[in-house]
Amino acid sequence: MQFNTEHNGPGLISGAFLEIGMLTVKNAELDIVCGVTSKFPVNEEAEIAFAGRSNVGKSSLINTLLCRKKLARTSAEPGKTRTVNFYKVRCGFENIPDDVFFYLVDLPGYGYAKTSIAERAKWGPMIEKYLRMSKTLKCVVLLVDIRHDPTADDRQMYDWIVSAGLTPVVVATKSDKLKRSQIDKQIKNIRTVLKADKEVKILPFSAETRQGREELLALMEEYIIE
Ligand code: GDP
Repeated sequence: MQFNTEHNGPGLISGAFLEIGMLTVKNAELDIVCGVTSKFPVNEEAEIAFAGRSNVGKSSLINTLLCRKKLARTSAEPGKTRTVNFYKVRCGFENIPDDVFFYLVDLPGYGYAKTSIAERAKWGPMIEKYLRMSKTLKCVVLLVDIRHDPTADDRQMYDWIVSAGLTPVVVATKSDKLKRSQIDKQIKNIRTVLKADKEVKILPFSAETRQGREELLALMEEYIIE
């Protein structure tokens, strides 16, 4: 595995070659930002969306996946806005001569305590609209905190994903906070609370130890080159 952190300005990575199985992330940049009133782009490339409660560790996961420290803004940073962010990712695959592009779509974190009811009323429909209208959305990765049972908001999000006809992949974040024996137990709880079928993948993940990173990239790979 090679990794090089040479940066080329904000939002752009250059010269980073990270080999995971067959997939090499070569470049990632924030390409499109949509607010509540924006129209969603019509992309030809595959889209993989990431959803979860505010503070669940979504920005940390995106930065870990793409091997960037600060591509996605973390909750702790002031100015984090509630938008749908489309990161354009260029990757290379063994046995495929040309690079392949996909969009990693960062959906706004929900369930943030300080959000006004009026604001909340806008995001829900915005996320649901995106799930229903995107033509190239292949899969939605739903993040839940491994230490807690999924909330009513998480269950709502899971149901939207399924009812939009999309495949959910559940990622249980911050796995470094639990012992190995507790991890299996919590994964079972999460499956029960979400009422997820046994075919639905639930992966423990940690941005600290990078547990689950390769498994998640391997799952994404299937959708990107489908
Ligand atoms: P977001 O609001 O979902 O984008 O969440 P962030 O990525 O900003 O993370 C929220 C908080 O959880 C921050 O303090 C992170 O440092 C912490 N965090 C995120 N991922 C992990 C993880 O895998 N392990 C641990 N221990 N902390 C994490």
